[in-house]
Amino acid sequence: MAAKSQETHRMTYIIAKDCVDVMDGACVDVCPVDCIYSKPGDNQLFISPDECIDCAACEPVCPVNAIFPEDQVPAEQKEFIKLNYDYDYDSSEPGANA
Ligand code: SF4
Repeated sequence: MAAKSQETHRMTYIIAKDCVDVMDGACVDVCPVDCIYSKPGDNQLFISPDECIDCAACEPVCPVNAIFPEDQVPAEQKEFIKLNYDYDYDSSEPGANA
């Protein structure tokens, strides 16, 4: 059987547990496409999977190592993949707004 051809789907980065109640925002400053969002009342930042270009710039600047490529999120933090995917990006803004 022929291998599946390359799809346009990109991977995304995920912000996981250690951002909760920290929200340092260093990632926001380095993201070239402004795809890291929050709104007042949030307790963490979120990466829009539809906008993330998988550049990896945010990962090393996070002071609490809360950011992972989607396929490297630790097993006990997998729930954060869904949180990042399901977040209501339409009602929030790029940046650390909480
Ligand atoms: Fe932004 Fe790049 Fe991080 Fe995606 S991987 S959230 S595009 S800095």
